[in-house]
Amino acid sequence: MKEILKQLPSVDELLKESRTQQWLTIHPRILVLEALRTAVNEIRVAILQAVSDESPPAEAGIRHPSIPDILDRAEGILTSLREPALQSLINATGVVVHTNLGRSPLSESAIRRVVEVSRGYSNLEYSIGAGERGKRHTHVEGILTRLTGVEAATAVNNNAAAVLLCLNTMARGKEVVVSRGELVEIGGSFRIPDVMERSGAVLREVGTTNKTHLKDYRAAINENTGLLLKVHTSNYKIVGFTKEVAPPELSALGKKFSIPVMWDLGSGSFIDLAAYGIGNEPTVQQAVDAGVDIITFSGDKLLGGPQAGLILGSQRYLDAIRSNPLARALRIDKLTLAALEATLNQYLDEKKAVQEIPTLWMLTQPLDEITRKAALLAEGLSAIGDADLSVSVQDDLSQTGGGSLPIGNLPTKVACISHNQLSANRIESLLRRGTPPIITRIKEGMVLFDPRTLNDEEIAQIIGAVRANLQKSGAKSQ
Ligand SMILES: *Cc1c(COP(=O)(O)O)cnc(C)c1O
Repeated sequence: MKEILKQLPSVDELLKESRTQQWLTIHPRILVLEALRTAVNEIRVAILQAVSDESPPAEAGIRHPSIPDILDRAEGILTSLREPALQSLINATGVVVHTNLGRSPLSESAIRRVVEVSRGYSNLEYSIGAGERGKRHTHVEGILTRLTGVEAATAVNNNAAAVLLCLNTMARGKEVVVSRGELVEIGGSFRIPDVMERSGAVLREVGTTNKTHLKDYRAAINENTGLLLKVHTSNYKIVGFTKEVAPPELSALGKKFSIPVMWDLGSGSFIDLAAYGIGNEPTVQQAVDAGVDIITFSGDKLLGGPQAGLILGSQRYLDAIRSNPLARALRIDKLTLAALEATLNQYLDEKKAVQEIPTLWMLTQPLDEITRKAALLAEGLSAIGDADLSVSVQDDLSQTGGGSLPIGNLPTKVACISHNQLSANRIESLLRRGTPPIITRIKEGMVLFDPRTLNDEEIAQIIGAVRANLQKSGAKSQ
Protein backbone atom coordinates (compact mmCIF):
# COMPACT_ATOMS: atom_id res chain seq x y z
CA MET A 1 0.00 0.00 0.00
CA LYS A 2 2.79 2.40 0.91
CA GLU A 3 4.36 1.58 -2.46
CA ILE A 4 1.14 2.51 -4.21
CA LEU A 5 1.08 5.77 -2.29
CA LYS A 6 4.57 6.60 -3.50
CA GLN A 7 3.63 5.81 -7.08
CA LEU A 8 0.69 8.23 -7.13
CA PRO A 9 1.39 10.81 -9.85
CA SER A 10 1.84 14.46 -8.93
CA VAL A 11 -0.52 17.15 -10.17
CA ASP A 12 2.32 18.41 -12.40
CA GLU A 13 2.60 15.01 -14.07
CA LEU A 14 -1.16 14.83 -14.57
CA LEU A 15 -1.09 18.30 -16.13
CA LYS A 16 1.13 16.94 -18.92
CA GLU A 17 -1.47 14.37 -20.00
CA SER A 18 -3.13 15.20 -23.30
CA ARG A 19 -6.58 14.76 -21.72
CA THR A 20 -5.72 17.38 -19.11
CA GLN A 21 -4.36 19.70 -21.79
CA GLN A 22 -7.68 19.31 -23.60
CA TRP A 23 -9.58 20.33 -20.43
CA LEU A 24 -7.42 23.44 -20.12
CA THR A 25 -8.68 24.65 -23.49
CA ILE A 26 -12.29 24.72 -22.23
CA HIS A 27 -12.15 25.01 -18.42
CA PRO A 28 -10.50 27.65 -16.19
CA ARG A 29 -7.06 26.49 -15.03
CA ILE A 30 -7.90 27.08 -11.37
CA LEU A 31 -10.75 24.53 -11.58
CA VAL A 32 -8.67 21.95 -13.49
CA LEU A 33 -5.97 22.18 -10.81
CA GLU A 34 -8.52 21.85 -8.02
CA ALA A 35 -10.10 18.80 -9.69
CA LEU A 36 -6.72 17.06 -10.14
CA ARG A 37 -5.62 17.84 -6.59
CA THR A 38 -8.93 16.65 -5.14
CA ALA A 39 -8.86 13.42 -7.18
CA VAL A 40 -5.31 12.53 -6.08
CA ASN A 41 -6.16 13.43 -2.47
CA GLU A 42 -9.30 11.30 -2.45
CA ILE A 43 -7.29 8.30 -3.63
CA ARG A 44 -4.54 8.97 -1.09
CA VAL A 45 -7.10 9.14 1.74
CA ALA A 46 -8.75 5.91 0.55
CA ILE A 47 -5.38 4.11 0.47
CA LEU A 48 -4.45 5.36 3.95
CA GLN A 49 -7.86 4.26 5.19
CA ALA A 50 -7.26 0.79 3.70
CA VAL A 51 -3.84 0.65 5.41
CA SER A 52 -5.30 1.52 8.79
CA ASP A 53 -8.21 -0.93 8.32
CA GLU A 54 -5.72 -3.60 7.15
CA SER A 55 -8.11 -4.49 4.35
CA PRO A 56 -7.70 -3.95 0.60
CA PRO A 57 -9.82 -1.12 -0.79
CA ALA A 58 -12.99 -2.18 -2.56
CA GLU A 59 -12.58 -0.12 -5.73
CA ALA A 60 -10.13 -1.40 -8.34
CA GLY A 61 -9.28 2.20 -9.23
CA ILE A 62 -7.87 2.63 -5.75
CA ARG A 63 -6.13 -0.76 -5.46
CA HIS A 64 -4.14 -0.02 -8.61
CA PRO A 65 -4.68 3.66 -9.37
CA SER A 66 -3.72 4.23 -13.00
CA ILE A 67 -3.50 7.65 -14.60
CA PRO A 68 -6.73 7.13 -16.61
CA ASP A 69 -8.51 6.16 -13.34
CA ILE A 70 -7.33 9.33 -11.65
CA LEU A 71 -8.29 11.44 -14.65
CA ASP A 72 -11.76 9.84 -14.75
CA ARG A 73 -12.22 10.82 -11.14
CA ALA A 74 -10.87 14.33 -11.79
CA GLU A 75 -13.22 14.74 -14.74
CA GLY A 76 -16.24 13.97 -12.55
CA ILE A 77 -15.04 16.52 -10.00
CA LEU A 78 -14.42 19.09 -12.75
CA THR A 79 -17.94 18.62 -14.09
CA SER A 80 -19.46 19.25 -10.68
CA LEU A 81 -17.20 22.28 -10.11
CA ARG A 82 -18.57 23.81 -13.30
CA GLU A 83 -22.17 23.44 -12.18
CA PRO A 84 -23.70 26.44 -10.44
CA ALA A 85 -24.01 26.00 -6.68
CA LEU A 86 -27.54 27.43 -6.82
CA GLN A 87 -29.43 25.02 -9.06
CA SER A 88 -32.91 24.70 -10.46
CA LEU A 89 -34.69 21.55 -9.37
CA ILE A 90 -38.02 19.77 -9.63
CA ASN A 91 -40.27 20.03 -6.58
CA ALA A 92 -42.40 16.88 -6.56
CA THR A 93 -43.25 17.24 -2.85
CA GLY A 94 -46.53 19.09 -3.41
CA VAL A 95 -45.46 21.66 -0.78
CA VAL A 96 -46.31 24.85 -2.66
CA VAL A 97 -44.53 27.57 -0.69
CA HIS A 98 -41.46 25.46 0.12
CA THR A 99 -38.99 27.61 2.05
CA ASN A 100 -36.06 25.22 1.46
CA LEU A 101 -36.80 25.08 -2.27
CA GLY A 102 -36.95 28.81 -2.93
CA ARG A 103 -40.57 29.50 -1.93
CA SER A 104 -42.45 31.07 -4.85
CA PRO A 105 -41.54 30.53 -8.51
CA LEU A 106 -42.04 33.82 -10.37
CA SER A 107 -44.69 34.50 -12.99
CA GLU A 108 -43.65 34.95 -16.61
CA SER A 109 -44.35 38.67 -16.51
CA ALA A 110 -42.24 39.08 -13.34
CA ILE A 111 -39.38 37.19 -14.98
CA ARG A 112 -39.62 39.38 -18.08
CA ARG A 113 -39.40 42.54 -15.99
CA VAL A 114 -36.35 41.24 -14.08
CA VAL A 115 -34.58 40.51 -17.35
CA GLU A 116 -35.49 43.91 -18.83
CA VAL A 117 -34.52 45.94 -15.79
CA SER A 118 -31.28 44.08 -15.10
CA ARG A 119 -29.95 44.41 -18.64
CA GLY A 120 -29.28 48.14 -18.44
CA TYR A 121 -29.78 51.25 -16.36
CA SER A 122 -33.12 52.18 -14.79
CA ASN A 123 -34.86 54.98 -12.90
CA LEU A 124 -34.38 53.09 -9.64
CA GLU A 125 -33.67 56.29 -7.71
CA TYR A 126 -34.32 58.89 -10.35
CA SER A 127 -37.38 60.93 -11.19
CA ILE A 128 -37.62 61.08 -14.97
CA GLY A 129 -40.19 63.89 -14.84
CA ALA A 130 -38.19 66.13 -12.54
CA GLY A 131 -34.78 65.15 -13.87
CA GLU A 132 -33.44 64.70 -10.37
CA ARG A 133 -32.93 62.15 -7.65
CA GLY A 134 -36.02 60.02 -6.95
CA LYS A 135 -36.99 57.42 -4.38
CA ARG A 136 -36.83 53.67 -4.82
CA HIS A 137 -39.92 52.89 -2.75
CA THR A 138 -42.20 54.90 -5.03
CA HIS A 139 -42.12 52.14 -7.68
CA VAL A 140 -44.44 49.85 -5.74
CA GLU A 141 -46.24 52.42 -3.61
CA GLY A 142 -48.70 53.34 -6.37
CA ILE A 143 -49.87 49.82 -7.04
CA LEU A 144 -50.02 48.91 -3.33
CA THR A 145 -52.17 51.91 -2.43
CA ARG A 146 -54.37 51.25 -5.49
CA LEU A 147 -54.88 47.60 -4.52
CA THR A 148 -55.58 48.19 -0.84
CA GLY A 149 -56.64 51.79 -0.27
CA VAL A 150 -53.89 52.44 2.30
CA GLU A 151 -52.22 55.85 2.43
CA ALA A 152 -48.64 54.72 2.01
CA ALA A 153 -46.53 51.65 1.41
CA THR A 154 -42.97 50.50 0.97
CA ALA A 155 -41.02 47.30 0.39
CA VAL A 156 -37.88 46.01 2.07
CA ASN A 157 -35.64 42.93 1.84
CA ASN A 158 -38.04 40.45 3.47
CA ASN A 159 -40.78 40.33 6.07
CA ALA A 160 -38.34 39.70 8.90
CA ALA A 161 -36.69 42.99 7.90
CA ALA A 162 -40.10 44.68 7.71
CA VAL A 163 -40.96 43.60 11.26
CA LEU A 164 -37.55 44.59 12.61
CA LEU A 165 -37.69 47.99 10.91
CA CYS A 166 -41.22 48.75 12.11
CA LEU A 167 -40.51 47.74 15.71
CA ASN A 168 -37.30 49.74 15.74
CA THR A 169 -39.00 52.82 14.28
CA MET A 170 -42.16 52.76 16.36
CA ALA A 171 -41.03 51.31 19.67
CA ARG A 172 -37.29 51.54 20.29
CA GLY A 173 -36.86 51.90 24.06
CA LYS A 174 -40.59 51.45 24.54
CA GLU A 175 -42.86 48.54 25.34
CA VAL A 176 -44.63 46.47 22.70
CA VAL A 177 -47.72 44.64 23.90
CA VAL A 178 -48.16 41.14 22.39
CA SER A 179 -50.39 38.22 23.25
CA ARG A 180 -48.59 35.14 24.66
CA GLY A 181 -50.47 33.11 22.06
CA GLU A 182 -48.68 35.00 19.28
CA LEU A 183 -45.01 34.81 20.31
CA VAL A 184 -44.23 32.60 17.36
CA GLU A 185 -41.10 31.15 15.83
CA ILE A 186 -40.98 30.97 12.05
CA GLY A 187 -38.47 28.66 10.37
CA GLY A 188 -36.09 28.45 13.32
CA SER A 189 -34.31 31.77 12.97
CA PHE A 190 -37.19 34.21 13.22
CA ARG A 191 -38.66 34.43 16.71
CA ILE A 192 -40.82 37.36 17.68
CA PRO A 193 -39.16 37.79 21.14
CA ASP A 194 -35.64 37.74 19.60
CA VAL A 195 -36.49 40.16 16.80
CA MET A 196 -38.13 42.39 19.39
CA GLU A 197 -34.95 42.44 21.48
CA ARG A 198 -32.78 43.29 18.47
CA SER A 199 -35.13 46.11 17.52
CA GLY A 200 -34.51 47.76 20.87
CA ALA A 201 -38.16 47.40 21.89
CA VAL A 202 -39.23 45.78 25.14
CA LEU A 203 -41.60 42.85 24.92
CA ARG A 204 -44.66 43.12 27.14
CA GLU A 205 -46.43 39.74 27.03
CA VAL A 206 -50.10 39.64 27.91
CA GLY A 207 -52.76 36.95 28.33
CA THR A 208 -52.07 33.22 28.22
CA THR A 209 -51.12 30.78 25.46
CA ASN A 210 -54.73 29.95 24.64
CA LYS A 211 -56.66 33.03 25.75
CA THR A 212 -55.98 36.73 25.54
CA HIS A 213 -58.72 39.32 26.18
CA LEU A 214 -58.97 42.99 25.28
CA LYS A 215 -58.75 43.81 28.99
CA ASP A 216 -55.30 42.14 29.08
CA TYR A 217 -53.99 44.60 26.47
CA ARG A 218 -55.77 47.42 28.22
CA ALA A 219 -54.16 46.62 31.59
CA ALA A 220 -50.67 46.53 30.03
CA ILE A 221 -50.87 50.02 28.54
CA ASN A 222 -48.81 52.65 30.34
CA GLU A 223 -46.96 55.86 29.47
CA ASN A 224 -44.09 53.83 28.02
CA THR A 225 -46.18 51.74 25.60
CA GLY A 226 -45.00 52.26 22.02
CA LEU A 227 -47.01 49.73 20.05
CA LEU A 228 -49.73 47.09 20.19
CA LEU A 229 -48.64 44.16 18.02
CA LYS A 230 -50.69 41.38 16.51
CA VAL A 231 -48.88 38.47 14.88
CA HIS A 232 -50.68 36.08 12.57
CA THR A 233 -49.82 32.60 13.81
CA SER A 234 -49.48 31.31 10.30
CA ASN A 235 -47.62 28.08 11.00
CA TYR A 236 -49.66 26.64 13.84
CA LYS A 237 -53.11 26.85 15.31
CA ILE A 238 -54.33 26.80 18.87
CA VAL A 239 -57.63 24.96 18.91
CA GLY A 240 -60.20 24.32 21.61
CA PHE A 241 -60.74 26.73 24.54
CA THR A 242 -59.31 29.83 22.92
CA LYS A 243 -59.79 33.57 22.65
CA GLU A 244 -57.87 36.11 20.68
CA VAL A 245 -58.72 39.76 20.28
CA ALA A 246 -60.10 40.65 16.85
CA PRO A 247 -57.97 43.24 15.03
CA PRO A 248 -60.76 45.88 14.84
CA GLU A 249 -61.09 45.78 18.64
CA LEU A 250 -57.34 46.17 19.03
CA SER A 251 -57.34 49.09 16.57
CA ALA A 252 -60.08 50.80 18.56
CA LEU A 253 -58.10 50.35 21.78
CA GLY A 254 -54.98 51.81 20.13
CA LYS A 255 -56.91 54.83 18.86
CA LYS A 256 -58.37 55.46 22.31
CA PHE A 257 -54.88 55.66 23.82
CA SER A 258 -53.14 57.13 20.75
CA ILE A 259 -50.90 54.09 20.47
CA PRO A 260 -50.22 52.65 17.01
CA VAL A 261 -51.33 49.10 16.23
CA MET A 262 -49.34 46.81 13.95
CA TRP A 263 -50.39 43.48 12.42
CA ASP A 264 -47.71 41.15 11.11
CA LEU A 265 -49.74 39.09 8.65
CA GLY A 266 -46.88 36.78 7.70
CA SER A 267 -48.23 35.37 4.45
CA GLY A 268 -50.42 38.25 3.42
CA SER A 269 -52.72 37.11 0.65
CA PHE A 270 -54.39 39.61 -1.67
CA ILE A 271 -57.08 37.17 -2.64
CA ASP A 272 -59.47 35.38 -0.32
CA LEU A 273 -58.27 31.79 -0.62
CA ALA A 274 -61.19 30.63 1.54
CA ALA A 275 -63.34 31.36 -1.52
CA TYR A 276 -61.34 28.60 -3.25
CA GLY A 277 -61.86 26.29 -0.29
CA ILE A 278 -58.38 26.82 1.06
CA GLY A 279 -57.77 27.64 4.74
CA ASN A 280 -58.89 30.73 6.55
CA GLU A 281 -56.01 33.12 6.07
CA PRO A 282 -56.82 36.82 6.68
CA THR A 283 -56.39 38.88 3.52
CA VAL A 284 -54.45 42.11 3.29
CA GLN A 285 -57.76 43.87 2.62
CA GLN A 286 -59.23 42.50 5.87
CA ALA A 287 -56.22 43.87 7.74
CA VAL A 288 -56.71 47.29 6.12
CA ASP A 289 -60.42 47.26 6.93
CA ALA A 290 -59.62 46.38 10.56
CA GLY A 291 -58.11 49.85 10.83
CA VAL A 292 -54.64 48.84 12.06
CA ASP A 293 -51.91 51.44 11.50
CA ILE A 294 -49.17 49.20 10.09
CA ILE A 295 -49.41 45.90 8.19
CA THR A 296 -46.43 43.73 7.25
CA PHE A 297 -46.21 40.57 5.12
CA SER A 298 -43.90 38.56 2.83
CA GLY A 299 -43.54 38.99 -0.92
CA ASP A 300 -42.77 35.32 -1.61
CA LYS A 301 -45.34 33.42 0.43
CA LEU A 302 -49.00 33.54 -0.66
CA LEU A 303 -48.35 36.68 -2.69
CA GLY A 304 -46.29 34.51 -5.07
CA GLY A 305 -43.66 37.13 -5.88
CA PRO A 306 -39.98 37.59 -5.06
CA GLN A 307 -38.47 37.61 -1.57
CA ALA A 308 -39.55 40.92 -0.07
CA GLY A 309 -41.24 42.45 2.96
CA LEU A 310 -44.17 44.78 2.42
CA ILE A 311 -45.11 47.53 4.84
CA LEU A 312 -48.48 49.23 4.43
CA GLY A 313 -50.01 51.93 6.59
CA SER A 314 -50.62 55.54 7.42
CA GLN A 315 -48.47 58.21 5.85
CA ARG A 316 -46.97 59.50 9.08
CA TYR A 317 -45.76 56.07 10.21
CA LEU A 318 -44.43 55.20 6.76
CA ASP A 319 -42.51 58.51 6.67
CA ALA A 320 -40.86 57.63 9.97
CA ILE A 321 -40.10 54.08 8.81
CA ARG A 322 -38.49 55.23 5.57
CA SER A 323 -36.27 57.79 7.26
CA ASN A 324 -34.97 55.26 9.80
CA PRO A 325 -31.24 54.67 9.05
CA LEU A 326 -31.94 50.91 9.26
CA ALA A 327 -34.16 51.24 6.16
CA ARG A 328 -31.02 51.72 4.07
CA ALA A 329 -29.52 48.49 5.40
CA LEU A 330 -32.72 46.56 4.74
CA ARG A 331 -33.60 48.06 1.38
CA ILE A 332 -34.93 46.09 -1.56
CA ASP A 333 -32.80 45.68 -4.70
CA LYS A 334 -33.84 46.58 -8.23
CA LEU A 335 -34.34 43.02 -9.52
CA THR A 336 -36.66 42.26 -6.65
CA LEU A 337 -38.46 45.53 -7.16
CA ALA A 338 -38.99 44.75 -10.85
CA ALA A 339 -40.43 41.31 -10.05
CA LEU A 340 -42.53 42.64 -7.19
CA GLU A 341 -44.07 45.46 -9.21
CA ALA A 342 -44.95 43.03 -12.03
CA THR A 343 -46.49 40.53 -9.60
CA LEU A 344 -48.53 43.21 -7.82
CA ASN A 345 -49.82 44.52 -11.15
CA GLN A 346 -51.19 41.07 -11.92
CA TYR A 347 -53.53 41.40 -8.93
CA LEU A 348 -55.47 44.16 -10.69
CA ASP A 349 -57.34 41.27 -12.32
CA GLU A 350 -57.89 38.49 -9.77
CA LYS A 351 -58.96 35.88 -12.35
CA LYS A 352 -55.74 36.41 -14.28
CA ALA A 353 -53.67 36.52 -11.09
CA VAL A 354 -54.91 33.07 -10.11
CA GLN A 355 -54.05 31.72 -13.58
CA GLU A 356 -50.71 33.42 -14.06
CA ILE A 357 -49.03 33.58 -10.67
CA PRO A 358 -47.58 30.08 -10.22
CA THR A 359 -48.06 29.90 -6.44
CA LEU A 360 -51.74 30.82 -6.75
CA TRP A 361 -52.29 28.45 -9.65
CA MET A 362 -50.66 25.54 -7.81
CA LEU A 363 -52.87 26.22 -4.79
CA THR A 364 -56.16 26.76 -6.60
CA GLN A 365 -55.92 24.41 -9.63
CA PRO A 366 -58.93 22.07 -9.75
CA LEU A 367 -58.48 18.51 -8.48
CA ASP A 368 -59.36 17.37 -12.03
CA GLU A 369 -56.19 19.00 -13.31
CA ILE A 370 -54.08 17.29 -10.63
CA THR A 371 -55.77 13.98 -11.43
CA ARG A 372 -54.94 14.43 -15.12
CA LYS A 373 -51.27 15.06 -14.32
CA ALA A 374 -51.13 12.11 -11.87
CA ALA A 375 -52.51 9.82 -14.61
CA LEU A 376 -50.02 11.19 -17.14
CA LEU A 377 -47.18 10.51 -14.75
CA ALA A 378 -48.43 7.04 -13.80
CA GLU A 379 -48.91 6.06 -17.46
CA GLY A 380 -45.41 7.18 -18.38
CA LEU A 381 -43.91 5.31 -15.42
CA SER A 382 -45.83 2.12 -16.24
CA ALA A 383 -44.72 2.39 -19.88
CA ILE A 384 -41.09 2.00 -18.73
CA GLY A 385 -42.05 -1.68 -18.64
CA ASP A 386 -39.93 -2.70 -15.64
CA ALA A 387 -41.55 -5.83 -14.15
CA ASP A 388 -40.17 -4.98 -10.69
CA LEU A 389 -41.72 -1.50 -10.68
CA SER A 390 -45.18 -0.97 -9.14
CA VAL A 391 -47.02 2.20 -10.08
CA SER A 392 -50.26 3.51 -8.60
CA VAL A 393 -52.24 6.71 -8.18
CA GLN A 394 -53.49 7.43 -4.65
CA ASP A 395 -55.35 10.08 -2.67
CA ASP A 396 -53.12 12.21 -0.49
CA LEU A 397 -52.75 15.71 0.93
CA SER A 398 -50.49 18.52 -0.30
CA GLN A 399 -49.30 21.26 1.99
CA THR A 400 -49.40 24.97 1.37
CA GLY A 401 -46.07 25.36 3.20
CA GLY A 402 -44.16 28.50 4.08
CA GLY A 403 -45.82 28.79 7.45
CA SER A 404 -49.08 29.46 5.65
CA LEU A 405 -52.46 27.94 6.32
CA PRO A 406 -51.38 25.48 9.02
CA ILE A 407 -54.43 23.27 8.86
CA GLY A 408 -55.20 23.94 5.23
CA ASN A 409 -53.89 20.70 3.76
CA LEU A 410 -55.17 20.32 0.23
CA PRO A 411 -56.61 17.11 -1.25
CA THR A 412 -54.40 15.83 -4.05
CA LYS A 413 -53.68 12.74 -6.18
CA VAL A 414 -50.13 11.40 -6.05
CA ALA A 415 -48.34 9.00 -8.37
CA CYS A 416 -46.54 6.37 -6.26
CA ILE A 417 -43.78 3.94 -7.14
CA SER A 418 -42.03 1.07 -5.40
CA HIS A 419 -39.51 -1.42 -6.75
CA ASN A 420 -38.67 -5.03 -5.84
CA GLN A 421 -34.89 -4.48 -6.14
CA LEU A 422 -34.55 -0.89 -4.95
CA SER A 423 -35.75 0.55 -1.63
CA ALA A 424 -37.79 3.76 -1.57
CA ASN A 425 -34.86 5.48 0.13
CA ARG A 426 -32.55 4.40 -2.70
CA ILE A 427 -34.93 5.64 -5.40
CA GLU A 428 -35.44 8.92 -3.54
CA SER A 429 -31.68 9.42 -3.30
CA LEU A 430 -31.02 8.56 -6.97
CA LEU A 431 -33.65 11.04 -8.13
CA ARG A 432 -32.47 13.73 -5.71
CA ARG A 433 -28.88 13.42 -6.91
CA GLY A 434 -29.74 13.44 -10.61
CA THR A 435 -29.71 16.34 -13.08
CA PRO A 436 -31.95 18.16 -12.51
CA PRO A 437 -32.45 17.01 -8.92
CA ILE A 438 -35.98 15.72 -8.27
CA ILE A 439 -37.24 16.15 -4.71
CA THR A 440 -39.88 13.61 -3.65
CA ARG A 441 -41.67 12.37 -0.55
CA ILE A 442 -41.52 8.84 0.87
CA LYS A 443 -44.57 7.26 2.45
CA GLU A 444 -45.12 3.65 3.49
CA GLY A 445 -42.24 2.31 1.44
CA MET A 446 -43.23 4.19 -1.72
CA VAL A 447 -41.81 7.23 -3.47
CA LEU A 448 -44.54 9.83 -4.03
CA PHE A 449 -44.78 12.44 -6.78
CA ASP A 450 -47.36 15.14 -6.10
CA PRO A 451 -48.38 16.75 -9.42
CA ARG A 452 -49.72 19.84 -7.60
CA THR A 453 -46.26 21.40 -7.91
CA LEU A 454 -45.40 19.88 -11.31
CA ASN A 455 -46.05 20.93 -14.90
CA ASP A 456 -46.23 18.59 -17.90
CA GLU A 457 -42.62 19.21 -18.89
CA GLU A 458 -41.40 18.29 -15.42
CA ILE A 459 -43.56 15.18 -15.50
CA ALA A 460 -41.79 14.10 -18.69
CA GLN A 461 -38.42 14.77 -17.03
CA ILE A 462 -39.40 12.65 -14.01
CA ILE A 463 -40.41 9.72 -16.24
CA GLY A 464 -37.10 10.02 -18.10
CA ALA A 465 -35.10 10.12 -14.86
CA VAL A 466 -36.86 7.07 -13.38
CA ARG A 467 -36.33 5.14 -16.63
CA ALA A 468 -32.62 6.05 -16.79
CA ASN A 469 -32.03 5.09 -13.17
CA LEU A 470 -33.84 1.75 -13.49
CA GLN A 471 -31.88 0.90 -16.64
CA LYS A 472 -28.61 1.80 -14.91
CA SER A 473 -29.34 -0.24 -11.79
CA GLY A 474 -30.71 -3.11 -13.94
CA ALA A 475 -27.48 -3.14 -15.96
CA LYS A 476 -25.45 -3.24 -12.74
CA SER A 477 -27.32 -6.14 -11.21
CA GLN A 478 -26.92 -8.31 -14.31
C1 LIG B 1 -42.86 34.15 7.40
C2 LIG B 1 -43.14 35.13 8.47
C3 LIG B 1 -42.22 36.12 8.81
C4 LIG B 1 -40.88 36.23 8.12
O1 LIG B 1 -41.05 36.55 6.77
P1 LIG B 1 -39.83 36.38 5.73
O2 LIG B 1 -40.36 36.94 4.46
O3 LIG B 1 -39.52 34.92 5.68
O4 LIG B 1 -38.68 37.16 6.27
C5 LIG B 1 -42.55 37.00 9.80
N1 LIG B 1 -43.74 36.92 10.45
C6 LIG B 1 -44.65 35.96 10.18
C7 LIG B 1 -45.93 35.91 10.94
C8 LIG B 1 -44.38 35.04 9.18
O5 LIG B 1 -45.29 34.08 8.89
